[in-house]
Amino acid sequence: MKKVYIDTMGCQMNKSDTERMLGMLSHFDYEETKTPEDAELLMVNTCSIRQLSEDKAFSAVGTWGKWKKEFGKNIKIGFCGCVAQQKAQEIFKRAPYVDFVLGTHKIYALPEIIKRIENGERVCECTETNQTEDDKAKDFEIQRVKGVGAWIPITEGCNNFCTYCIVPYTRGRERSREPEIIIKEAKDALASGYKEITLLGQNVDSYGKDFVAKPLSDCSTNLNDNSKFENYRLAQLLRDLNALDGNFRIRFVTSYPTDITDELIQTVVELDKVCEYFHIPMQSGSTPVLKAMNRRYTREEYAKIVQKIRNMVPDVTITSDFIAGFPGETEEQFVETLTAIDEFELDYSNVAAYSPREKTVAAKWVDKFIPEDIKEERFQRLNKKIQENCLKSNKKYVGREMEVLVENFYEHKGQMVNTGKTRNFKTVHIPCEKDLTGKFVNVKITEAKTWYVKGELIG
Ligand code: SF4
Repeated sequence: MKKVYIDTMGCQMNKSDTERMLGMLSHFDYEETKTPEDAELLMVNTCSIRQLSEDKAFSAVGTWGKWKKEFGKNIKIGFCGCVAQQKAQEIFKRAPYVDFVLGTHKIYALPEIIKRIENGERVCECTETNQTEDDKAKDFEIQRVKGVGAWIPITEGCNNFCTYCIVPYTRGRERSREPEIIIKEAKDALASGYKEITLLGQNVDSYGKDFVAKPLSDCSTNLNDNSKFENYRLAQLLRDLNALDGNFRIRFVTSYPTDITDELIQTVVELDKVCEYFHIPMQSGSTPVLKAMNRRYTREEYAKIVQKIRNMVPDVTITSDFIAGFPGETEEQFVETLTAIDEFELDYSNVAAYSPREKTVAAKWVDKFIPEDIKEERFQRLNKKIQENCLKSNKKYVGREMEVLVENFYEHKGQMVNTGKTRNFKTVHIPCEKDLTGKFVNVKITEAKTWYVKGELIG
């Protein structure tokens, strides 16, 4: 067997793409190695959300290029993912030792690319497409990372064009995958022993909105011609997955606030396998900043949605994302973000300092850019607020009995611990000598820490 090393950056969608690429590569006698020095094929699956991530990708291929050029190592180098999609041929100029560039729209071109680069060709496959690649997906198994959870993308791309975000330019317009294919992937994952299915999409609750008939006269439409699924939405997909046999959990991320329907919330309440967890990026607590970001809701509308979910779903965990130092953000507007985290009792949030991305609207507002030191200071204050709230949220569960799906077993400070997640996405550490990975166990929560809770086994 030949060895392939893939450095995967960014979100779960990229991790899922890497699993698919590893599945394809296994047909060419490649097996994964975690040691780049051992590999004949080295690939980076890039993320373009922040400049830092893009720089890391070029630095990785730069090192491999040195191995090839200066030390004469017989290796092939691939540059894949969102930066590849965005920059295409430009990658070869900046990194001439790269053998192939593979964009997010064409990952199923990989088998053909491997044949061509092995014949000494240099290949760039980044053509944008408005179709999913599901017809090709059927031919290849997915080589999932070992663990208890399987990621399954249900939509690709995004139509929202938030002014800071590169995703619509790298992942294209939103395309929903056919329900049968998703259900088959879920069945396969469950048959292989996975205990949790996470449905992925940039905007998961708009799943199925593009399932409409293509008008005969309209050749330019971006919509899939999938009219047979016309009324099929996320709630129905959750029902169909929930009906599959076995003891497993279902999650879905990421939600766009105003796309969350009452029907979807009700589905979470009713279906026993669907977990009480919503990830709903707010991005800013200030309505004028949200407007500048082209987010389609106000602070008050976001509050209403969160409140509705909390009223309907007992013990729900709601997490969010925020950007510190968006162009033009005033101190008062930033403080509104801090107060939003408290007011809406957000259990946890990811924070990023604003990073201008080429092609996006906000990247042109140079005169409104926030100085780096102020951005950094806001970033730190946001993190502090999030830590406080995370601890507060964890404390609510001390003394409660909860079901945990164990994900890992390792030594921590001289003691063996199992770690896993509750249905509502709380991380639990369970001191125990026995490896319980992959098992559902009941625990009593004994202590709250900032990022996790401690629990002891019951029974
Ligand atoms: S909803 Fe906005 S932030 Fe999210 S992927 Fe789409 S454009 Fe980017």
